[in-house]
Amino acid sequence: MDRIEYLKNIKRIVVKVGTSTITHETGLINYEMMNKVVEQISNLMNRGYEVILVSSGAVGAGLGILKDMKRPMTIPEKQAAASVGQVTLIHLYQKMFLEYSQNISQILLTKSDIEDRERYLNIRNVFFELLKRKVIPIINENDTVTTDEIKVGDNDTLAALVANLIDADLLILLSDIDGLYDSNPNENKNANLIRKVINVNEVMSYAKDSSSLQGTGGMITKLNAGKIANAYGSHMIIANGKTKFVLNRIMDCEEIGTLFVKNKNLVSARRQWIGFNSKVAGTLIIDNGAKKAILNNKSLLPIGIKKIDGIFKRGETVSIVDENENEIARGLSNFDSGSLLKIIGLNSNKIVDILGYKDSNDVVHIDNMMIKE
Ligand code: GLU
Repeated sequence: MDRIEYLKNIKRIVVKVGTSTITHETGLINYEMMNKVVEQISNLMNRGYEVILVSSGAVGAGLGILKDMKRPMTIPEKQAAASVGQVTLIHLYQKMFLEYSQNISQILLTKSDIEDRERYLNIRNVFFELLKRKVIPIINENDTVTTDEIKVGDNDTLAALVANLIDADLLILLSDIDGLYDSNPNENKNANLIRKVINVNEVMSYAKDSSSLQGTGGMITKLNAGKIANAYGSHMIIANGKTKFVLNRIMDCEEIGTLFVKNKNLVSARRQWIGFNSKVAGTLIIDNGAKKAILNNKSLLPIGIKKIDGIFKRGETVSIVDENENEIARGLSNFDSGSLLKIIGLNSNKIVDILGYKDSNDVVHIDNMMIKE
């Protein structure tokens, strides 16, 4: 299949830029490259894509400012550098994006934000709100509050997790390499650039991990990111950030970089986690109308719930059973049991009046549900 077959229905794109792309070897910001990234993303926005930017460079930028700090750094030094550098980074992004009439936001994430289902759902909602308003979220790991032990650790992985979190169609990793080679191109002149990978597991042996000077993730890290993205429904492309108009040309379906094709059996990975791996914290007993709706791939609304059992938090897994106690599905609840008790049997437009807020119309969204029947 041609690139166009894979890329024609893409709408939501996560772009990750590495430190090596937006800083010089001196560790200082490369304004020209940064501006090129900004200009291209702005063009993608104007072409109608939704773009989320995962940008490294906080530690690098901080190092550039705190001149007496040198690698290797102690943990507090790294955290301080990130704290100084992140402000510079986002300030520059805002200035540059404003030049192209684009609004940005900043989201700093930690590993535990993504592992915790309640925070995960909160973050998802924020992303969707921002994307609806055509704001470009700019993501980095919250390096200032996380130490190495509790970190995602590299932005390739973080970008893949974000792609999964927001159901992105495509993840583009911009780096200082043209893509995946069948052997290390620095050591072997005859190394071939691979254009398409169907199964990441089959190419793991091509990658020898070699971190670039400023960045964190080498090729193995990128391939592992590919496994995450591909399993959850995003294609991934590794390309060189220095290639002229790289983002726009990728979206014009030019054969640039290496494309990692998403897995065939998509939703199942995520839904399997919900259906089989997560701990069930409560039970929702639903009426026949709601049962029919779920079996027709619709979300569960408060009006269809007759009774609830158990005490659970928002974001925890609930078992959804029919009136005969047959389990129909499992899914993640958008409400805690206390709030839910107050709104079951009611129309969703009553939620705000009763709870004083409304994060969602549905109690369990169909995307967060594994149907068992
Ligand atoms: N979060 C780190 C930073 O902003 C970068 C991590 C990475 O390069 O993967 O400096």
